[in-house]
Amino acid sequence: MNIIRIENPIFTSNTYIISSEKHNWVWLVDIGGVDGVINSLSKDSMVRGVFITHSHFDHIYGINKLIDTFPECIVFTSVEGKKGLYSEKLNLSFYHDEPIVFEGSNVQILHENDKIELFENCFLETIQTPGHDWSCLTFKVDNCLFTGDSFIPNVKVVTKLKGGNKEENIKSLAKIMSNICENSIICPGHGEMSKIDALNPLSCY
Ligand SMILES: [Zn+2]
Repeated sequence: MNIIRIENPIFTSNTYIISSEKHNWVWLVDIGGVDGVINSLSKDSMVRGVFITHSHFDHIYGINKLIDTFPECIVFTSVEGKKGLYSEKLNLSFYHDEPIVFEGSNVQILHENDKIELFENCFLETIQTPGHDWSCLTFKVDNCLFTGDSFIPNVKVVTKLKGGNKEENIKSLAKIMSNICENSIICPGHGEMSKIDALNPLSCY
């Protein structure tokens, strides 16, 4: 399994491409600038699905272009995340220049512990981590944790936005910590990927 991090050109959020040498499809975690994704793919590669860490606009703003480019692509999100995809107020894009409302319908809801097979014997596992927003999910693939804005190493989690909840955030951070082991790699919603030894988990509370 290979992971490429792309820093999105508009909001500096991350899009991740998860690929495997043996397969001609890839998976994404969040979607900003689609051109960066396309430029990173080999010609015969297609995007099978995108896993949304939460439906704030900076993590979904390329979604309509993505579906235009890859119409078969499935959007995986939580119950709350689905609401956010279709509401510019919930996804907060209403308060920015260009409101974003998802125009597609190929959405699959994920719940706690749901597993999706990405490649042969390689599964993505769902962990519900509300707190930054009710829609927040963390995804575990092998030793990688895609935490979105639920956990950004050495950055305090933002819980003050609409949809944020301090108490839920504390529970979610504990849950994320319990999934971290010695060789874990954190792939956050903003900033660099990092190994666990570079972390100071307490700084996030
Ligand atoms: Zn966010």
